[in-house]
Amino acid sequence: MHPDIALLTKYSQPGPRYTSYPPAPHFSADFGIPQWREELLASQTLARPLSLYVHIPFCDTLCYYCGCNMVATQNYAKATEYLDFLKREIDAVAALADPARTVVQLHWGGGTPTFLKAEDIRALGAHIRSRFNFAADAEVSVEVDPRGLLREQVQALRESGFNRASLGVQDLDEKVQKAVNRIQPLSLIEEVYGWFRAEGFSSINFDLMTGLPHQTLESYRHTLAEVVRLRPDRLAIFGYAHVPWLKKHQNLIRPAELPEFATRMAMQELILDTLEGVGYVHIGMDHFAKPEDELVKAQREKTLWRNFQGYTTHRDVDIYAFGASSISQTADIYAQNEKRPANYQQLVAEQGLATVKGYRLTADDKIRRDVITELMCDLALAKAPLEAKWNIRFDDYFAASLKALAPLQADGLVETSGDEIRVTALGRLFLRNIAMSFDAYHNAPKDAPQPGAPRYSMTA
Ligand code: SF4
Repeated sequence: MHPDIALLTKYSQPGPRYTSYPPAPHFSADFGIPQWREELLASQTLARPLSLYVHIPFCDTLCYYCGCNMVATQNYAKATEYLDFLKREIDAVAALADPARTVVQLHWGGGTPTFLKAEDIRALGAHIRSRFNFAADAEVSVEVDPRGLLREQVQALRESGFNRASLGVQDLDEKVQKAVNRIQPLSLIEEVYGWFRAEGFSSINFDLMTGLPHQTLESYRHTLAEVVRLRPDRLAIFGYAHVPWLKKHQNLIRPAELPEFATRMAMQELILDTLEGVGYVHIGMDHFAKPEDELVKAQREKTLWRNFQGYTTHRDVDIYAFGASSISQTADIYAQNEKRPANYQQLVAEQGLATVKGYRLTADDKIRRDVITELMCDLALAKAPLEAKWNIRFDDYFAASLKALAPLQADGLVETSGDEIRVTALGRLFLRNIAMSFDAYHNAPKDAPQPGAPRYSMTA
């Protein structure tokens, strides 16, 4: 597959990443604490398993490319205080939830969860387990910043039941690391990786990034070669989203130092050739896994799902999320917490919960969410099951979407055959564009974005 640059340029446009549908910019302040409390009580009767998410917003230093909700601080007292409120929120939700519901997944993200000292990792881990009913084989994962990590923190994670870790590697080139203020030599990453292996973590993911300043095809070839030598179980490779109007600190990255569009596209090709060449399987849009990994099995069996953490093996779960900015999700709603830690803590102190916005899905939202999720996860869409599930005639219901999809089909990004829409190998580079055809909110204003309308990162 050698897509020509003109085609790639044509489809490089702002668009959502579809970790939710509708995307988070459509959440509304009309959905707050009373609505989330009501939803928690209503969901008591459901047998659906639970997936828990815990957000630790602190980092030692600021990576200039960062798109997360985080606070850079050297003051550990802030974390100590935050943990107190986090536990209170966990207690408030656990008191409203059905204690019999099984937790099949727990993920700590951030910020940097490994900002926490070993004793606080143990205390928080034990607190969560005391409030919820964990499956014996629950996937318990944590995001790790290799810099400054101590072996005792890795041991504390393992003793707290963590069995998966995701290491922020991003790029191994020194010039790139300096330009984004994230210095972490290969020797450090190798040492930390060895600790997780030695402690018996069953799955280790590396997060990598493309589109960072000073990256070249050659420098990235070297990064990939070293990564492949270490053989992590999974890789998630994200394109840097330069959105300084949303993330002011990204102004510290000079646009002139970012790789050209053609270089970024050549890097995509290099990634595919290199990783598939050594046996990794491409998952969804931007993940790779060893053939025996559960993500590969989930993709094969069409149980792969997509949520705010990316691709996951569990489809029918409710997500209860804790901490500043975190987003809970049930079949019917999204509920997002206050983003600023101080305000989050105040809300929890006053009301036990900290929801400040959210969204209740309409029937149309749910149908479109199914379509978009299937395209993003399965790379194909079978019309008949959707028609049966939602009592619709697909081609009538999605007449406008299919019209919007037609040029993408003409450009070879999708193929249709009777009952099915299939994403081609080329189309995989443009999954977000394909999904946008079915996004009622994206299609609604056909003209230039209105003031205040959501502004997204580029799709390619
Ligand atoms: S460690 Fe992660 S969350 Fe923290 S600043 Fe860097 S990229 Fe952002």
